[in-house]
Amino acid sequence: MSFNDKVVIVTGGSSGIGAAIAIQFSSLGAKVAIVGRNDKKLDAVAKKCKNPLTLVADVTKENDAKRIVNDTIKHFGKLDILINNAGIANPASILDENAMAVFDLVMATNLRSCVYLTHLAAPHIIKTKGNIINISSVAALQVYSKQSFAYNSSKAAMDHFTRSVAAELASHGVRVNVVNPGPVKTDIIENLGMDKAQQEDVFAKMKSLTALDRVSDAEEIADLVTFLASDKAKGITGSSFVTDNGSMIKTD
Ligand code: NDP
Repeated sequence: MSFNDKVVIVTGGSSGIGAAIAIQFSSLGAKVAIVGRNDKKLDAVAKKCKNPLTLVADVTKENDAKRIVNDTIKHFGKLDILINNAGIANPASILDENAMAVFDLVMATNLRSCVYLTHLAAPHIIKTKGNIINISSVAALQVYSKQSFAYNSSKAAMDHFTRSVAAELASHGVRVNVVNPGPVKTDIIENLGMDKAQQEDVFAKMKSLTALDRVSDAEEIADLVTFLASDKAKGITGSSFVTDNGSMIKTD
């Protein structure tokens, strides 16, 4: 697989799954624009990529989203692939006083940013007949934990957004797909403010919920994403791909 001369934007490229996706695209010859708010983490990922563009930006802010697309076009001259990966998993019960504040933040980060960046990027991706991949979750398809209504709703909406936009963009030669990972070992739990012991507990619980009794590495998700973005997947659009270590088929 080669992405020579392809230009790829990866949101949430400063950590976890997004970092692995950016590094893998770069190793396959792509020119990557990596997006995140934490400049130190972005710089650490940039060191593992070849001549990347790093964009310190908050995907929930419209001006930042415009800057992400405009700066990428200005720097690399075109855009082939958009990976909407930035996401948060803040928990809240529907009974909590701050339920709506958490819902708004999670929807703005996980869903609205994906919709707005797709809106901004699509005209450029039509020119290159490229593609878009959204990073959802198995939580879009099944409820695994309490206090996750906001996250689950954002990811379920992302899946159907993907199909809807795929239907619209197909006549322009643009493919749009979604990947639904199960548990992946990243900073997503640490970013909720949990200490090391709590994080280990969460990942051990996640592992016990899978048929294969394992948690994925971020690189496994990147393997699937680069396949879907490549010409090998030229017949695939509007599809969702579960990579969850069998959590959805786990039996007692
Ligand atoms: P990490 O917490 O390791 O990474 C999240 C990334 O999103 C970071 O790069 C972070 O960058 C970025 N991000 C978050 N909010 C914003 C924002 N407002 N603006 C810009 N960037 C933002 O998590 P993962 O790698 O695990 O998660 C990546 C995606 O995969 C998410 O969408 C998540 O829902 C999904 N996923 C993860 C699973 C898992 O088990 N880990 C399972 C299923 C799906 P920064 O901090 O620099 O702003």
